Amino acid sequence: MYQLNSKIRDLKPYEPLEGGYRIRLDANESFLSLAPELEAKMIDACACTLFHRYPDPMARQVCQAFADYYKISPESVTAGNGSDELISVLMTAFLAKGDTVLTLSPDFSMYRFYASLAEVNCLELVKKSDLTIDVDELISVAAQSKAKMLLFSNPCNPTSLGLSREQVRRLIRSIDSLVVLDEAYMDFWDQSLIREVAEYDNLIVLRTCSKALGMAALRLGFAVSNPTLTNAIKAGKSPYNVNAITQNMGTAVLSEHKKIDEAVKKIVESRVVLSQKLEKLLEKYPGRFFLYPSCTNFVFLHLSDARQVYEQLLSCGIAVRLMGDSLRITAGTTAENTELISALQHIFSQGKQP
Ligand SMILES: *Cc1c(COP(=O)(O)O)cnc(C)c1O
Repeated sequence: MYQLNSKIRDLKPYEPLEGGYRIRLDANESFLSLAPELEAKMIDACACTLFHRYPDPMARQVCQAFADYYKISPESVTAGNGSDELISVLMTAFLAKGDTVLTLSPDFSMYRFYASLAEVNCLELVKKSDLTIDVDELISVAAQSKAKMLLFSNPCNPTSLGLSREQVRRLIRSIDSLVVLDEAYMDFWDQSLIREVAEYDNLIVLRTCSKALGMAALRLGFAVSNPTLTNAIKAGKSPYNVNAITQNMGTAVLSEHKKIDEAVKKIVESRVVLSQKLEKLLEKYPGRFFLYPSCTNFVFLHLSDARQVYEQLLSCGIAVRLMGDSLRITAGTTAENTELISALQHIFSQGKQP
């Protein structure tokens, strides 16, 4: 009788929250929908796709458009089917069964998932109690554990905190292993290392079109690294990993530099306003929750009754992300943020504080 192996047997398909919630602030997507002028370009991009041909395995055009926008060399760029696919490729191509990947806790939950499928040990260094990273401790754990890869997000999902460029540089220089720096939220902050990859023999930076660029549906991510590492990533990925429609549409979106800048500005403004409103709420209900300073398009709140608040928000039609005793809330439109704040105000006023 056929039996599933142990690494797949107990896994369940990834299921994001389903249901007709009016307000979705649970997936860190952009709240901005496609600009009408861009819509026409997207339709053109689709229409000029050669459907009977395989796509360009090197995705040259879209890598060029990405490189132009970020002012980096196109030779340093590899495209992926979302940065998720690239995480999986890096784990399987750069690590061998039984190797150790070092990551942090809390950090992006998918790291552990891809590690387990690649039969790689995933060692998680717990962050300090304020959820910042102890760089010295990380350097020494990396050495002791003989980890072959360090993988973490900066700014971090879910904590919304950032590690300064100077600290990340020190980390990369002090560690022998490959460092995979997931900059999924770096469009909202200014401490990217994307322009410095040529200076390191052990750095791969990941970026995505799913957050700031508002293209989660396209599934498009990028790895940026020196030429040697870039060649290795390209050799280790599946040949036609990014479909032709995504390549063409991604090129169209990434060519709109002004639109991207405007969108990022609007999203950051929304998060700033959301943070300010939460601070105001804290003045009214001192100590009711702890709000972490954010460098991203979401906020991270610690509350001892996170689950109850989460469920009460759901019953008001507002979906946020529950993570243990914390809530991760994506910045939304002005109307969505206002509704969220009044729902929280209502919940807190009921005084069911534990
Ligand atoms: C959203 C996210 C990604 C993945 O994005 P893709 O949609 O797969 O490109 C990667 N890392 C972090 C930390 C994220 O939050």
